[in-house]
Amino acid sequence: MPIPFLLIAVFLLGAALGAGLIVIRSRAQLAAARHLADRLTQDNAALSRLLDIDPLTRCSSRRYFVAEATKWLDAPDSAGLTLMIMDIDHFKSINDSYGHGAGDRYLAAVGKALSTHLDGRGMVARLGGDEFWIALPKADAQAGWVLAEELRERVYDIPLQTPGQLVTRSASLGVTSVPARTKLTEAMTEADTALYLAKAGGRNKALLVDATVRRQMQATKTRPTVEGIKQGLADEEFTYFVQPVFEIDSRRPVGVEALIRWVRPDGSVLLPADFMSVITANYHLSVKPPLALANEIAAAFSDAPHPMFCAFNISTSFLQRAIGKDTRWLDELLMGLPPQQMVFEIVESAVIEDAASARSLLSAMREAGVRIALDDFGTGRSNLMRLRDLPVDIVKVDRSFVASITTSAKNTAILRALVAMSGDLGYEIIAEGVETDEQLNRLWDIGITQAQGYLLGAPAPLADWREALLRPAPPALRAAE
Ligand code: C2E
Ligand code: CA
Ligand code: CA
Repeated sequence: MPIPFLLIAVFLLGAALGAGLIVIRSRAQLAAARHLADRLTQDNAALSRLLDIDPLTRCSSRRYFVAEATKWLDAPDSAGLTLMIMDIDHFKSINDSYGHGAGDRYLAAVGKALSTHLDGRGMVARLGGDEFWIALPKADAQAGWVLAEELRERVYDIPLQTPGQLVTRSASLGVTSVPARTKLTEAMTEADTALYLAKAGGRNKALLVDATVRRQMQATKTRPTVEGIKQGLADEEFTYFVQPVFEIDSRRPVGVEALIRWVRPDGSVLLPADFMSVITANYHLSVKPPLALANEIAAAFSDAPHPMFCAFNISTSFLQRAIGKDTRWLDELLMGLPPQQMVFEIVESAVIEDAASARSLLSAMREAGVRIALDDFGTGRSNLMRLRDLPVDIVKVDRSFVASITTSAKNTAILRALVAMSGDLGYEIIAEGVETDEQLNRLWDIGITQAQGYLLGAPAPLADWREALLRPAPPALRAAE
């Protein structure tokens, strides 16, 4: 009998007996009825077991996992549990490229590998799609993370034979240790957020929820909303601070970088890290390069004793939107400041999505006289290879790289190579985030002549810097005297 009918039959038999609708007339009938009831109970138990298992992977089902993990957490002698969620990186592309049959075979292999590796130490469940959950019956963050890393490596080794080739995928995991009597849904949300951060951090990694991650989660919760930002834009609460860039030896200011700030009505100042990701993730929100500020800077520095540039950061999404479309903003911007005094700072990720169009847009800007700076050099997003592919006038060495030169011979060597190539490739170099005299001296020794950073001057409203930057004898030099 098909299983749903069995269930209905058990129910009806019980209900009918209870209601006295079936009248047992003989011992034989009674025995038959008992036999039927026993069988139905057995089948019911079998059905229940079936519902506890995910038929594709033979791992536990959502129903079983949730019930069991809740029991573990609520038991009087509970030691908490370690919870992890695993997601296959780019799993969808297996279904899309090789069909759902291949996707199913792959998931079955993953389920088997996880169960085999766990070997009864905890439970593995598939809660849908390529989302696997693992629970270990004790809260132990470090052991959980070690196991998560083992599982990640295990998954990396699973081959899927497709008609043309062997395919493999990496996996990302979020891990958290959960004290007894925590609500399971809360713990799952925490693991899920860790998974999100693992993916955002480049995938193929296991991320453990620790104090830092918890802080990050808290910040995510209190991050400004799209609505709040929209209102802030409408109320013109967004503005730009400027940070000067100096020539190291003369301490003469050569330009400023405009850095966006959200100044709330209560006077608090929010940094781009607090809101920029919301702006770039929401296509309809756009902070245009600051025309008014460009004009103000042009006016402020037009009679400077030395020409000063103003550098603006251009985000990936902004550049993408400008590609092939309306570039009126560029013309408007150029009306504010002579193009020779304008620099656009681009991070590498901004130019890889549609490299050809981005290159031609950048070339158009350069033809107009604007200089292009490659931002964050020395981070994963920006490196020597980009210099070959992009038209670059200025390379900005990232703060983390600057910080490492006093300890890393390797990074010092890379900077020397960057300096050596600058003549032939025709770019200038600016070191960012210089905080100590030691760093400044080391940069100078390497051959880098321009720098910005807290040591030389922090970002501040234009009004705060204006006078100091226009003085014939520059402020930093005076301070040094
Ligand atoms: P970035 O372009 O690398 O800007 C340099 C960041 O380093 C700025 O952070 C600056 O305040 C900070 N900084 C400068 N000197 C020092 C120092 O000596 N030590 C330390 N620890 N930090 C220093 P900020 O203003 O928070 O900006 C962060 C990032 O946000 C920028 O990194 C840039 O990528 C982005 N950003 C800023 N303004 C804009 C904008 O108008 N548009 C876009 N798309 N992105 C922007
Ligand atoms: Ca920048
Ligand atoms: Ca930078």
